[in-house]
Amino acid sequence: MSSTLHTATLAPGRFGPYGGRYVPETLMVPLFELERAYEAAKSDPQFQVEFASLLKNFAGRPTPLQFAARLTSHLGGPRIYIKREDLLHTGAHKINNAIGQGLLAVKMGKPRIVAETGAGQHGVASATVAAHLGLECVVYMGTEDMARQSLNVSRMRMLGAQVVGVESGSRTLKDAINEAMRDWVTNVRNTHYLLGSVLGAHPYPTMVRDFHSVIGREAREQILAAEKRLPTHLFACVGGGSNAIGLFHQFLRDPGVKMVGIEAGGRGGQLGEHAARLAAHQGFTGARPGVLQGTYTYILQTEDGQIATTHSISAGLDYPAIGPEHAWLADEGRAEYSAVTDQGALEAARLLSRTEGIIPALESAHAVAGLIERISPNSSSNADRPRLTPDDLVIVNLSGRGDKDMDTYTRAFGTK
Ligand SMILES: *Cc1c(COP(=O)(O)O)cnc(C)c1O
Repeated sequence: MSSTLHTATLAPGRFGPYGGRYVPETLMVPLFELERAYEAAKSDPQFQVEFASLLKNFAGRPTPLQFAARLTSHLGGPRIYIKREDLLHTGAHKINNAIGQGLLAVKMGKPRIVAETGAGQHGVASATVAAHLGLECVVYMGTEDMARQSLNVSRMRMLGAQVVGVESGSRTLKDAINEAMRDWVTNVRNTHYLLGSVLGAHPYPTMVRDFHSVIGREAREQILAAEKRLPTHLFACVGGGSNAIGLFHQFLRDPGVKMVGIEAGGRGGQLGEHAARLAAHQGFTGARPGVLQGTYTYILQTEDGQIATTHSISAGLDYPAIGPEHAWLADEGRAEYSAVTDQGALEAARLLSRTEGIIPALESAHAVAGLIERISPNSSSNADRPRLTPDDLVIVNLSGRGDKDMDTYTRAFGTK
């Protein structure tokens, strides 16, 4: 199989065997239209100037690459730098992609956007960009998530978006995506679907990656300026995989840079208790390749191929599929993936807060926890992985800030 992988990647929208475009016929035309608009935007200097200007003046780029002095000395391992995507407007990396697709909607003459959201971060980013660009915005959100993330629901409404509760299925992200796709099919003439991660049918996984690749471009320049060498390791959490691929992409051709994606290990390895799609080597069961929501990738599923329920303490990582490019990077061995538990993420969040003065989003705390496990492993699950040494140089992507997770942190740690 692997000898065919390289040639297969040449097909647009394919990452080895993964990716592609598995949608009902009614969506093929709008997907072609979007692909054409995106291809045109790539070489349209006016689009690129507007995109760069909004990233800088509206979102707050470039974000700092901060040396984590106290975390480094506390862990006693490699030098650790933190890419501060948490400092962006609206509090997470998601605004990069929302700005790119919002501008595309304007270029395509579509006055209305629909979006799905899990934790609410992508809904907030979409509502923010829609307000800024004068677009109508409808956000689909599972009612379970609406209850967990009521602050973000209020933010979206304040920004003028309509938030539609989704009662079907597990009432979480996957169900919200289904509803957003249904809306798009119905209203495709005036509506753009602003998908929030490197998921879905082509061109989304490629386009969303490109909009986030500014993270890695900046980080590369910043680490070279600070350390005069490339990092040895990159760490990022992986829900759909957009913040991770945004950091990784600029380093894929550097064989000395190892890439580690950290998934949600939840409460443990049994199917239903986690959202780890590429961590079978640690005993997280249930993932096999399949098609979900337009793309072929690793999916958590039952033996009969029903989509499995998932669990993570962090809503942004609680999704049964992973972006197809990550599936391919895992198969190729170019990036490695492992999972940390809810508890590991909580402890990492507290440690980062107290050593660096940064309260991370629970999602981002998974990346920090994954790094900690590779410096001082306390679980047998990662015992097979080589440990990082003081000669290593690490960049951790801090995808978002922890304000939205304060209820969870308070429940976990009390108020002391
Ligand atoms: C949504 C979100 C994630 C997960 O999405 P990816 O596409 O995997 O990046 C991670 N961190 C934060 C802060 C988020 O809001």
